[in-house]
Amino acid sequence: MYNHGKNPFLNNQEAKKVERVGKGNGCPHYKKCGGCHLQNMTYSEQLRYKQVNVIKLLGRFCRINEIIGMENPLHYRCKVQAAFGKDKSGIISGVYQSSTHKIVPIDLCMIEDEKADEIIVTVRKLLKSFKLKPFDENNMTGFLRHVLIRKGFYTGQIMVVLVTGTSIFPSSRSFINALVGRHPEITTIVQNVNNKFTSLVLGDKTVTLYGEGYIEDTILDCTFRISPRSFYQINPVMTTKLYSKAIEYMELTGSETAIDAYCGTGTIGILASAKAGKVIGVELNGDAVYDAKFNAKRNNIENIEFYTADASDFMVEMAKLGQRADVVIMDPPRAGSDQRFMSSVVTLSPEKIVYVSCNPETLARDLSYFVKNAYHVRRIQPVDMFPHTNHVEVCCCLVKAKT
Ligand code: SAH
Repeated sequence: MYNHGKNPFLNNQEAKKVERVGKGNGCPHYKKCGGCHLQNMTYSEQLRYKQVNVIKLLGRFCRINEIIGMENPLHYRCKVQAAFGKDKSGIISGVYQSSTHKIVPIDLCMIEDEKADEIIVTVRKLLKSFKLKPFDENNMTGFLRHVLIRKGFYTGQIMVVLVTGTSIFPSSRSFINALVGRHPEITTIVQNVNNKFTSLVLGDKTVTLYGEGYIEDTILDCTFRISPRSFYQINPVMTTKLYSKAIEYMELTGSETAIDAYCGTGTIGILASAKAGKVIGVELNGDAVYDAKFNAKRNNIENIEFYTADASDFMVEMAKLGQRADVVIMDPPRAGSDQRFMSSVVTLSPEKIVYVSCNPETLARDLSYFVKNAYHVRRIQPVDMFPHTNHVEVCCCLVKAKT
């Protein structure tokens, strides 16, 4: 099992800090915030806990590989969001207490990128000096609702999204200059207007105030564009490990047709395309498909196509048309897939199915379906994408059962 005391990537002091984070030692906001469910455990205990959980849920399908843990499981979130409001002390920023709209003031979070947290504190200070008010949800007045920060882990590029309740941004030029002056590492600043009574963070209108309006990051050999709205995994270090495992499980030799279902901005399909004959990506969100097409061009990839569609409709259609696929990689949201999708996959009869899941419970349900329908689960690999929370990512490989 993981032993951080002997971790070659951490010096003794860091290793001790990682182990001490649990047992209530690490975070002063633990109880109120509720984001890190497992902070009462050390990191090694957390990994053991997740491993046992995955064995309980999926152990009946095949042997479970040892969970891949994070070498340094602190400050891993490269997407950071803060809500702005007011209390007796003045303007505050932080996270909503779980299941409420009450802001827990937080300046430094142990799982968020530290630079992102610093920028949020600076924005809060600047609000005061520019006499700008935080937004008040009760009477829908004021200015700043949220700040969203996305950082390219490997490129270092930083995007700041200022979510405002009104489109009018008084002294915006001086505000931007002051912010970039204090944090020259910011590469783009965007204003997003959200004037609706909603718990969604982003509104419909986005205006670029500084830089390109998006950032780029690299995963393995490819570069991806991240816009304020695009889905992009929040833990880049572990994403590299997860995607490498998924591509390894696809066992491509250069000639296969692969389907990347629930493909988001095309990351897995694009990375796999160098080893495949052809890749077909399908995704429901049109903005993500727009980014996926851009990403394919950006990386000079020509053997990939993307379609905006419900993955189940798309697969049913492919099965009806008698199309073939050698490998299907699927990465559905937490709810998992559905029978229409899976029965069409069975009709297409690929040699391999690689299933990436962020919810082992729905994964167990879906694997049962495939096992009843002529597939055999060959490998299951848990990956700790979200240290200190109770979430776990699982990558598994299914092969057609020999008849
Ligand atoms: N594989 C991608 C995205 C995974 S997240 C990555 O690693 O970045 C799951 C994706 O499934 C989201 O992009 C979501 O928009 C998409 N999705 C949700 N329901 C869908 C459906 N019914 N059909 C197709 N895509 C869907």
